[in-house]
Order: sequence, then C-alpha cells, then structure tokens
Amino acid sequence: MKKIRVLLGERSYNILIGRGLINNCGRILKNLEVGSDAVIITNHRVAALYKYAIEKTLKRNAFTVHFEFIADSEKAKSLSVANVILNRLSRYDLNKRIFIIALGGGVVGDLAGFVASIYKRGIPYVQIPTTLLAQVDSSIGGKVAVDLDVAKNLVGSFYQPKTVISDVSAIQTLSSRQIRNGLAEIIKYGVIKDAALFRYLELNHKRIMKLEKGALEYIVSRSGKIKADIVARDELDRKRVRAVLNYGHTIGHAIETAAGYSGRYSHGEAIAIGMVVAGRIAADLGLIKKSEADRVERLIKKVGLPVSIKGLAIPKIYEAHLHDKKFTNGKNRFILAGRIGAAGVVDGVADSVIRNALKSCVKN
Ligand code: NAD
Repeated sequence: MKKIRVLLGERSYNILIGRGLINNCGRILKNLEVGSDAVIITNHRVAALYKYAIEKTLKRNAFTVHFEFIADSEKAKSLSVANVILNRLSRYDLNKRIFIIALGGGVVGDLAGFVASIYKRGIPYVQIPTTLLAQVDSSIGGKVAVDLDVAKNLVGSFYQPKTVISDVSAIQTLSSRQIRNGLAEIIKYGVIKDAALFRYLELNHKRIMKLEKGALEYIVSRSGKIKADIVARDELDRKRVRAVLNYGHTIGHAIETAAGYSGRYSHGEAIAIGMVVAGRIAADLGLIKKSEADRVERLIKKVGLPVSIKGLAIPKIYEAHLHDKKFTNGKNRFILAGRIGAAGVVDGVADSVIRNALKSCVKN
C-alpha cells in the first residue's frame, strides 16, 4: 500500500493507494478514530459491487452502518438531494459520533463531502473513490459542491476528508469511456507538472487500457502526489498555484456547456479537446514548441480521446468560455504550458488567437 500525505496543518490527511483496500477499510478507519456510526453515501451501481464487503469490514470493526442511496446521475449533486440526506443524518445521529463515507465516483464524493461540510457545521468524512477520475482528482483537495440549474458546482465549500482510500481494484469494473475520463486528468498532470509521468503514459498507455494493476497503481499514486502537493501549497485556490489544475478546462468546460451537458462529450473528452486548444494557443504565442504541443495531441489520440470538435458551433463554445470562473474584470485567463511538465497562468490572450485555435480543431 502506498501512502501520500496531504500537508495542511491540522487538516492534514493520508491518501492510501492499493489493492483490496475496500475489504479492509474497517480496520483503517478504526485506527483513524473517525467516529463510530458510519453513514455510507453511494449509488446502486457501486453498492452492487461493494455493499456486502464494506458492511462486513465495518461491522467487524464495531461500527454501526447506514446506507444512503442517491441516483446514479450528476442530477444527484443537488440541494434537494443534500436536504434529504441531511434530514436522515439527524435521525442516525444518536451517539454523536457520526461520520460519512463517500463510496463512489466524483458525483458521490462531491455531494457527500458537501453534506459533511454543513451538517452541524461539519462532521468527519472519508473518501473511498471508485472511479479513476475520483481517485486521481475529485477525492483529493476538499472541493465539495452541488450544482445549481445555471451551472455546475456553484454551491460548495472547501472541506477536507479525514482520509482518502483509493482501491485500484475498483477500476477493473469501469467502462473504457470512464477510464479515458480519468486518463484525461492524468495526461493533464503530466503536462502541467511531470514530464516523467507524461513519458510513462506514452510508453505504457496500452498496459493502462488493459487495466494492468501495477500500471494503474503507478498512475494513481503519481497523480495523487501531484494533486496533494498543489493543494498543500494553495488549499483555497487563491495563490495562482492550484489554478494550473485547470489546464484544458477553460475550453473543456465551454465545450460541455455548448453541448448542453448532453453526454455527447464526457468531461474527460471535453478536457482532452481543451488541452489540444491550449497547446495550439501556446504554440501560436510562441510559448511552447509546436513539436511538444503535437506530442500532447498524439498521446491524447493514442488513448482514444478526441482531439477535434465535431457537431458544435465555434461561436457557441467561444461565448461559453467567456463565463470561465478564472476570468476577472473582462480579462481572460488561460493555463498554458511552456513545455511538457511546466505550466503557468497567462492573462489576456488575444481573442483572435483563441478563435484560430478553436477553428483549427473543428472536424466537419
Ligand atoms: P460519476 O461519479 O458519475 O461516476 C461515473 C460512473 O461510474 C457512474 O455511473 C458510477 O455509478 C460508475 N461507477 C463508479 N464506480 C464504479 C466502479 N468501480 N465500477 C463500475 N462503475 C462505477 O463520475 P466521475 O467521473 O467519477 O466524477 C464526475 C464528477 O466529479 C462531476 O460531478 C465533477 O464535477 C466532479 N469533480 C469534482 C472535482 C473536485 O475537485 N471536487 C474534480 C473533478 C471532478
């Protein structure tokens, strides 16, 4: 088992990465003294895989266990679902030692963390991420939120978990599209921070897509370490350090918005195209060598993620990108790489450069 420490003073915690950890999480949580009454928030798909095992290990370690099931959909990340769970928590909260376990992907993790952050002004919670995306990204760093109709993640807080337990065995039952979703974020980590990870992905993408456990363990722990270090330096996303995690996300989010979150583009697919656009913008500005930007595109393509935009109008994407949270006082802000392994914040990119990069990615 690998252990990565997220260093945040009294809010510090460990990310544990290994195989078969869900079966033994009762013992891990007992040593953590996180509480005695576990409320597991999950959905039926994940419960079908892990309900029996998690209940068994928790009960064996003297925890009481309640399950709260949410719909298997982004729509479950809502204030109304949070409200239902909050009311149930108050019924389970008899010994005053209640804590929450988020068992599932990013939807479960974001909602469960949000509920934990506001019930009685905060109770302990633990992330047990079961998608690749959740293991490398959403379970780490304490950004918890629900969506409003107008936009995703609009109501939320920073609230760190007590631990993250990443059981890489869980990845085995994900669809290839889900694996690629996670891989988009892992490629991002390579581009923004870690040329060696990027090289590893170039050499081992076939092993990863075959779900070889050693390769999965490596990419999950490497990514976890990168995210942990960034979060430790800028927990509240105020110092332009955490901003680099948004590489590819400005245009990626705009593509998701322009597609109306219809599922035409998954998050990872949209981010993949966003990274291609960011690479072309940086090449146009002379910040990165074209050959380096091309390398990123080749890797994205190799893992089966899209590099071009199909069936969406460029003006619609352009319009959507103007609503990016990073933009202030009418000035745009992009995360751009100078080379594979190093990225930074660039303000005020000319509109013509953005439009040209977008146009160059259109596939008719
Ligand atoms: P998800 O939670 O919807 O999970 C994807 C699908 O995989 C679901 O159908 C789920 O039931 C299923 N699933 C989960 N574990 C499984 C397993 N082991 N085997 C088979 N199927 C499994 O999607 P996601 O990609 O994990 O997360 C997306 C969410 O994460 C979005 O809401 C996004 O906003 C959020 N997010 C948050 C952060 C953050 O920092 N908090 C970062 C990135 C993304």
